[in-house]
Amino acid sequence: MDLRYSDSDEAFRAELREWLTGELPKLPAPPHREDWPTRRAYDTDWQRRLYDASYAGLNWPKEYGGRGASPSEQLIFLEETTRARAPYVGVNFVGQLHAGPTIIAEGTDEQKRDHLEKILRGDEVWCQGFSEPSAGSDLASLRTKAVRDGDHYVVTGQKIWCSFAQVGDFGELLVRTDPDAPKHKGITWLMLPMHLPGIEVRPLKTALGSSEFAEVFLDEVRVPVSCRVGAENDGWRVTNVTLSFERGTAFVSEMVDAMRLVEDLSPYANDPTHRRELGHIAAELDALWALTKRNITQAAKGGVMGRGAMMIKLPYSELRQRLGELSLRVLDRASLSIEDFDGLHNGEFVEERLRTLALTIAAGTSQIQRNIIGERVLGLPKEPK
Ligand SMILES: Cc1cc2nc3c(=O)[nH]c(=O)nc-3n(C[C@H](O)[C@H](O)[C@H](O)COP(=O)(O)OP(=O)(O)OC[C@H]3O[C@@H](n4cnc5c(N)ncnc54)[C@H](O)[C@@H]3O)c2cc1C
Repeated sequence: MDLRYSDSDEAFRAELREWLTGELPKLPAPPHREDWPTRRAYDTDWQRRLYDASYAGLNWPKEYGGRGASPSEQLIFLEETTRARAPYVGVNFVGQLHAGPTIIAEGTDEQKRDHLEKILRGDEVWCQGFSEPSAGSDLASLRTKAVRDGDHYVVTGQKIWCSFAQVGDFGELLVRTDPDAPKHKGITWLMLPMHLPGIEVRPLKTALGSSEFAEVFLDEVRVPVSCRVGAENDGWRVTNVTLSFERGTAFVSEMVDAMRLVEDLSPYANDPTHRRELGHIAAELDALWALTKRNITQAAKGGVMGRGAMMIKLPYSELRQRLGELSLRVLDRASLSIEDFDGLHNGEFVEERLRTLALTIAAGTSQIQRNIIGERVLGLPKEPK
């Protein structure tokens, strides 16, 4: 792959930059982090603007409403939207970055028709219901059960840490459909309409004080069989498709944002030790960006992510925490306040530090990422049971 941008890439960049310059001043002020209805409205409004200007689903095929953009255009989009401080994908995260791509890879024609365009237009928000109180790292031990009753599955159980459940229209739901099969064999992947009777969403508070995720209780919820993605009991394979997007491409835009934070922190870092540490972080981000380019190119060719995607989450999430920790040392006493004061932009750094504490847990802990890299990438022996 030629990593330099071509003339047509630069033309795409100029056109996008002009659009962003015209569009961003029209946006209302960003909502408070705990005002969920307004957050949903704000994020989906931005999604709709992207869709109307043909910038939604840049990497999605044209037949599903995406732009079918080249890998370099996708990277330019991320660079430019981050540089212009455009809104982040927000509540559209799950739908845009892994539910939609899973439906593209594994869904039926009807499922593609019913959901993909709506996700891209910001008309449909998704959440994820994979983890359970006793099934996080060992996700395949999940116990939420689904019993077939004619054209429906009757689902009972509990999910936890479901990001955006309080504003979700649909959820990625993993259920056990064969309790007698080995644990990886009896799982099914369902699209859960969040408005169905028997679903109760109870928000959970994070260290930041906002309810980014929720517990979801399911009591004999009747989910149509037509909501099944992939075959019954083949859900573990479909889950791995979802996770390859979640741990691979979903971090890409965050990575560009980390580069921006490095730039923003740099004027405050006057101590030589701090500057050296910041330089190391910037260099490592640069290396990860090169790996990202490779991952995006592979995804563009094959649809599903390759080995590079299994590698990226671990170094990125740990690096992001180092950046957060360094930013607090650089800000010194200003890091005690989450509100900006005296012309400093301390608030964003403090908020980021608290938010990124969870990065080495969400989407698979660092220990589990090390196991995956050891076993699936390096071919080392499996950990003892
Ligand atoms: C911000 C955030 C958002 C999230 N969003 C969602 C969401 O939208 N939907 C969803 O379904 N889930 C979500 N999760 C849940 C997340 O996927 C789980 O928290 C994660 O998989 C870890 O599971 P656990 O919390 O049960 O920890 P455990 O699995 O109980 O792990 C506890 C500790 O033991 C270690 N450990 C466990 N097994 C091994 C092993 N085999 N080898 C070495 N160490 C091991 C872990 O690394 C960890 O340090 C989210 C989590 C966070 C923090």
